[in-house]
Amino acid sequence: MKAVQYRRVGHAPEVVDVPVPGPGPGQVLLKVTAAGLCHSDLAVMGWPEEQFPYPLPMTLGHEGVGTVAAVGSGVTAVAEGDDVAVYGPWGCGHCRNCAQGKENCCPRAAGLGILPPGLGYPGALAEYMLVDSPRHLMPLNGLDPVQAAPLTDAGLTPYHAIRRSLPKLVPGSTAVVIGVGGLGHLAVQLLRALTPARVVALDVSKEKLELARTVGAHETLLSDGAAAARVRELTGGTGADVVLDFVGAEATLAVAAASVAVAGDVTIVGIGGGTLAVGFGGGLPFEVAASFPYWGTRPELMEVVELARQGLVSSHVETFTLDEAPTAYERLHAGDINGRAVVLP
Ligand code: NAD
Ligand code: ZN
Ligand code: ZN
Repeated sequence: MKAVQYRRVGHAPEVVDVPVPGPGPGQVLLKVTAAGLCHSDLAVMGWPEEQFPYPLPMTLGHEGVGTVAAVGSGVTAVAEGDDVAVYGPWGCGHCRNCAQGKENCCPRAAGLGILPPGLGYPGALAEYMLVDSPRHLMPLNGLDPVQAAPLTDAGLTPYHAIRRSLPKLVPGSTAVVIGVGGLGHLAVQLLRALTPARVVALDVSKEKLELARTVGAHETLLSDGAAAARVRELTGGTGADVVLDFVGAEATLAVAAASVAVAGDVTIVGIGGGTLAVGFGGGLPFEVAASFPYWGTRPELMEVVELARQGLVSSHVETFTLDEAPTAYERLHAGDINGRAVVLP
């Protein structure tokens, strides 16, 4: 089968031919129907050799949707032909966090060598993929696979990030979304679907700000040196109750710090290498809560899929073949994908 692999540190991913894996006991083999490309893949492919944590070659793709093609012995929860989305942040399945579906916060996974598909374990950018347990599979219930693929990360991650701030997103509140790409364009829609907050979207690209408006942002601003002052103006000087940064660079974190209100939330989702000083004298207003959430929980993925089934959020996608995936990554790197790039194997 064809697979898109990162093979050598510092080199572009390649389309190669690899054997179709067979499901061992408890495992499920999926025929992949759609797989999303994430900016995190570019970050991983930018890491230096001495810090690279995963075995190579590595089949990419941590946003996967597929049809059950075969099940290993003992698997009864899913059957051949089922359309499912893959929950990616696999945990041990047994600790207190995993028992609550918070496998993204499993403290044992790393020690046990459990890695997410596409981030260490063979991923979804292939004709077939293996999933270690049927508990990682969410029924699509009729949702279009192309729509569903981005939800497994680009939808789930903002959903998880926004949920913790819901008590602050009351009528009259303001939420700022920095970076309206794959995650950000779904974040805007999630904020609109879940809260009465006014949504202000920031990006460096006019096309992306246009998409932000189309999907429901009330205000759009170019992300430059004047952006924080504009947010203050729009909020009568108070600042934003919640700032979600989907870039995470020094420049955007500075905008976040200068835009947030007293007792607001700054949530850093982007892994752009910036850090925020938290504490008295750090420059943040009093009582600001800062966090850097990772992916999302299993029940939250079910909830995001349900929101999409109800038509309350939809992924804006550009589709590619497996052969075109390396080019799609180049375009993502150049900032030239509006919404999410989705590969249809
Ligand atoms: P993307 O490339 O689709 O979107 C990034 C957007 O940010 C683009 O629209 C780009 O124009 C915009 N941008 C770039 N510089 C900007 C600036 N200075 N100000 C405002 N906007 C700017 O990326 P994505 O796949 O949506 O991922 C977003 C970030 O989230 C990445 O850093 C990714 O690695 C990270 N991520 C984190 C998690 C997590 O669990 N925390 C999960 C998935 C992705
Ligand atoms: Zn991702
Ligand atoms: Zn666990």
